[in-house]
Amino acid sequence: MRQDYTRMVEIANTGAKELGFKDVGAMWRAGYDMQPDAFTAMLDRTWGQVKPLYNALHCYTRAKLNEKYGDAVQPKTGPIRADLLGNMWAQDWGAIYDVVAPQGAGDIGYDIGELLKARGDDPVKMVKIGEGFYTSLGFSPLPETFWQRSQITKPADREVICHASAWNVDNKDDLRIKMCTKVNATDFVTIHHELGHNFYQRAYNKQPYFYLGGANDGFHEAIGDFIALSVTPDYLVKIDLLDPAKVPDASKDIGLLLRQAMEKVPGLPWTLLVDKWRWGVFDGSTPTTAYNKAWTDLRLNYMGVTPPAPRSEADFDPGQVPHPRQHALCALLSCPHPAVPILSGRLQAGRLERPAASLFLLWQQAGRREAERHAGAGRVKPWPDALEAFTGTREMDGSAILAYFAPLKTWLDKQNKGRQCGW
Ligand SMILES: [Zn+2]
Repeated sequence: MRQDYTRMVEIANTGAKELGFKDVGAMWRAGYDMQPDAFTAMLDRTWGQVKPLYNALHCYTRAKLNEKYGDAVQPKTGPIRADLLGNMWAQDWGAIYDVVAPQGAGDIGYDIGELLKARGDDPVKMVKIGEGFYTSLGFSPLPETFWQRSQITKPADREVICHASAWNVDNKDDLRIKMCTKVNATDFVTIHHELGHNFYQRAYNKQPYFYLGGANDGFHEAIGDFIALSVTPDYLVKIDLLDPAKVPDASKDIGLLLRQAMEKVPGLPWTLLVDKWRWGVFDGSTPTTAYNKAWTDLRLNYMGVTPPAPRSEADFDPGQVPHPRQHALCALLSCPHPAVPILSGRLQAGRLERPAASLFLLWQQAGRREAERHAGAGRVKPWPDALEAFTGTREMDGSAILAYFAPLKTWLDKQNKGRQCGW
């Protein structure tokens, strides 16, 4: 596909130039209403804030992989072999949580999928629970057509694309999700993510055509991703899924945080390097003859991972980058300042009670009118205005993520004592 890809870049750049942009990368970045250099600098600055957390996670995970596989497969120093991280792109390390789980704190004592199955919940019931999350924040229930027209489970009679997505077909209230839901924890969280798109889409449906969209490309994903952090033991008790007696005590916090960090934190450098690779390809600073080298270099530089076998320009590794969820970095990092006091209160109490999705907490506190007013602005206002309305800050900032994971960072630093971190 390398040749096809090269041709696609030419065609896309021609289109972008016709629209008045230097190249496709510049066109994408224009969605943020900033000078391209300022935008890149903002991303680099935010990444710089979060990098120490990633490095600590990298160092700890590498040591655990070394214990499991030995020096010949995973040395104690240098980059991590990407194929040991349990994910095709090494951007979600959740699948190897059992390798890194801390003794005693690793097992949180329940599995959402098992709880759902034990209660006899089916996929439709799971979506109803997700809807309940949003109506509890003050949003109106989903329309009847949602239930008639959504694809909630995989149809038996035809091939479909199972990658989960959310749609507003008529830009008004023909909301739908498309999933192949199974009764398990991942899909339970994904439902909450996808419905976040639907509720946001409907909230701004009265705007003129050109303003139908998130305040920036990151906002839509931010909503879903922070909702994922709301699926806490406390929430599971509220929806009568988890017996209050089974809520993990504070001794399990490190396990819970480590699991979330393994799933989410590697995604930050990953999305950033994917964007950087594409920008280089589109603006020509990465020539077609160096596609793969540029990719391997970025992977090493940002993530400290290395391919398990030598690569050359006969390969085209970036070609396997899936669904372009670009700008997810912005999404994840628009985690707002006001989250910090809420979160540290929670952490002092020693329990994972409250979601980090502070924008939803704020909506909840502000009441429905405010929630719909903020979400309803769509693209009308510049995104820093929207960010401020949601969160009280105009700047994208990584400090809330650091605050959220602070107890884990302290714990990781202790584990990493005496190790040579970095790569
Ligand atoms: Zn999404």
